[in-house]
Amino acid sequence: MSNLSYANEHSDAWQTYLAQIDRVAPHLGDLKQYIETLKRPKRALIVDVPIVMDDGSIRHFEGYRVQHNLSRGPGKGGVRYHPNVDLNEVMALSAWMTIKTAVLNLPFGGAKGGIRVDPRQLSPRELERLTRRFTTEISSLIGPQTDIPAPDVGTNPNIMGWMMDTYSMIQGHTVTGVVTGKPVHLGGSLGRVRATGRGVFVTGLQAAQKIGLEVAGSKVAVQGFGNVGSEAAYLFNEANAKIVAVQDHTGTIFNAEGFDVKALQKHVEEHQGVAGFADAQVIDNEAFWDVDMDILIPAALEAQITLERAQNLKAKLVLEGANGPTYPKADDVLVERGVTVVPDVICNAGGVTVSYFEWVQDMASYFWTEEEINERLDKLMIQAINDVWNTAKDKECSLRTAAYILACERILKARKERGIFPG
Ligand code: GLU
Repeated sequence: MSNLSYANEHSDAWQTYLAQIDRVAPHLGDLKQYIETLKRPKRALIVDVPIVMDDGSIRHFEGYRVQHNLSRGPGKGGVRYHPNVDLNEVMALSAWMTIKTAVLNLPFGGAKGGIRVDPRQLSPRELERLTRRFTTEISSLIGPQTDIPAPDVGTNPNIMGWMMDTYSMIQGHTVTGVVTGKPVHLGGSLGRVRATGRGVFVTGLQAAQKIGLEVAGSKVAVQGFGNVGSEAAYLFNEANAKIVAVQDHTGTIFNAEGFDVKALQKHVEEHQGVAGFADAQVIDNEAFWDVDMDILIPAALEAQITLERAQNLKAKLVLEGANGPTYPKADDVLVERGVTVVPDVICNAGGVTVSYFEWVQDMASYFWTEEEINERLDKLMIQAINDVWNTAKDKECSLRTAAYILACERILKARKERGIFPG
């Protein structure tokens, strides 16, 4: 049975976000007077999701949809299925979406949803019932002009297809633009599945170039080998970097010569994890953080880079494929130690950027080629990382604070110009 969790503080994610906001405040000039709006979500819905299991029993799951800020447009952000999901985490994830869409200058606000469930424990039919009931429960909040869900940890294009269909059934007509990350034949976009990993690679290349790190021959460690980590690993490997360590929920594997990433992807597809991969030394999970590496790609969950891990990390460059992987105190240590961190709100923004393209294509009912999508994605990501880089130089701050400066200026300017209703 799932426990009610919204009274508990299981994760520090919201505290991490608040600390990030406190750091940007001194840089915002007059706009600082509006910053309080970013320290609370605009709206949060907690729903009970009861489903009939395959054995005829009934189980209840706890679901959430949080709209953090809508000053710049409809809410945008994924839906997470994970046993540790709670309100605190979904609030933080929704807030990071607000910042992320603003850094990329996409015409969206920030939102996020989730269900406290281990999707691996459900049959496909149970997963479908869970998704359809959850979509029904949050249907008063979502819509192509109000709030557009997408995949996140534990969800995928099939689940988005069910969400789109359920919402469409309620409306009485097909509404493809209500979610993004759908299967391509249901109004999805080419390039969406691989977009987040691609964005990690594209921003990573730019950052590596700026700090004089040669990617060819460099040693890369990846935490998380799902949608994001595996694609980023693949692209870095194609650029002749060596993927020397990979960690996921099944364990940690190491190979000083670098893995055959395609073979590892095939293994993970067949065995649902990296454990058991040939040509790999199994190492202790904690030893992952001490591996001799040039680039670290945390692409799993929040709160991974702790103070202690940051103190010993050998990487010169950290590419945050995950949302919120670094604690604020660890961030300070990395800055002091001269480690460059490309923050989540830009590094993993490739996914939401192609989600934006998908939404635009659905609105227009006109679809682009994969080349057009990747070209536009790369252009937006490169522009954004360069803007963040130059702001960091200008203000003498970290890339994270620089990204927050650019984002908060856009969000709070919109807030100021729209005014506070009813005036
Ligand atoms: N869940 C992804 C993220 O954290 C994608 C969100 C979206 O495409 O809307 O950015």
